[in-house]
Amino acid sequence: MSNRTLSIDDRIYNYLSDVTINEAELLRQLREETAGIEYSVMQISPEQGQFMSLLIKLMRARRAIEIGTYTGYSSICIASAMPQDGLLVCCDISPQWTAIAEKYWAKAGLENKIELFSQPAEPTLQKLLDDGAAGSFDFIFIDADKQNYIMYYEMGLRLLRKGGLIAVDNTLWSGAVADPENTEPGTRAIRRFNDMLKQDDRISQSLLTIGDGLTLIIKEID
Ligand code: SAM
Ligand code: CA
Repeated sequence: MSNRTLSIDDRIYNYLSDVTINEAELLRQLREETAGIEYSVMQISPEQGQFMSLLIKLMRARRAIEIGTYTGYSSICIASAMPQDGLLVCCDISPQWTAIAEKYWAKAGLENKIELFSQPAEPTLQKLLDDGAAGSFDFIFIDADKQNYIMYYEMGLRLLRKGGLIAVDNTLWSGAVADPENTEPGTRAIRRFNDMLKQDDRISQSLLTIGDGLTLIIKEID
C-alpha cells in the first residue's frame, strides 16, 4: 500500500478493464473502425470515456463544447450522457475524420444533440462569444492542437458558467513533460499550459492520471 498514485502495469490495467469498463457496443464498433485509420491513438480510452460520461451526469450538464472530435468517441460519451434537450458543439478541422463521427452519431440517435463546426475552433468559439453565449456552457473538453491550448482555455473560460468544468486532455503527454531533455513543440506547449494553470486564481484544478493525463478545472469566478 502507498499514498502515491499507483503505476499501472498491464496486469492491473487488464484487471481494471475487466472489472469496471462497460463499453457500449456502438463505441466498441467505433473503436474497431478507428483502429484501421491513421492516428487511432488519438482516440480517448474506454475508461476515460466512461469517466467523462459520469462527470456529465454528475454535473447534469446540458450545454457542452468539444474542441477536437476526430472520429467521435469522446463526443458520444459526452452527448449520450446529456438529457434529450442537451447540446454539444463539436469543433474539428477534418471533414474526413468527422464523417465517421457523424455516421456513429446517427446510429446512436445523437444527431439532434450535436452541432458540428468544420473549421478551426477559434472562429467557432469567437462566434459563440459574439452571439452572446458567454457564461452559458456547463462543460468544455479541450483535445485539439496542443499549441493552442492556452487560447482554447481562455476562450473556454469566458464561455463557461461559474461552477462549470473544463477538461483538458493529454496534460501528461506520455510523460514527456517531466523530461527536461524533451523540447519538442507539443511537449513545450503542454508544459506552458500546465505551468500557467497553476498560477491561475480564477479556477480550481486537479490533474488526473487517467489516460494520458486529464486536467479538470472548475471556474470559480462570474
Ligand atoms: N477527442 C477525440 C476522441 O476522443 O476521439 C480525439 C481528438 S484528436 C486528439 C484531435 C483532433 O483535433 C483531430 O481530429 C484534429 O483534426 C483536430 N484539430 C486539430 N487542429 C484543430 C483546430 N485548429 N481546430 C479544431 N480542431 C482541430
Ligand atoms: Ca487526446
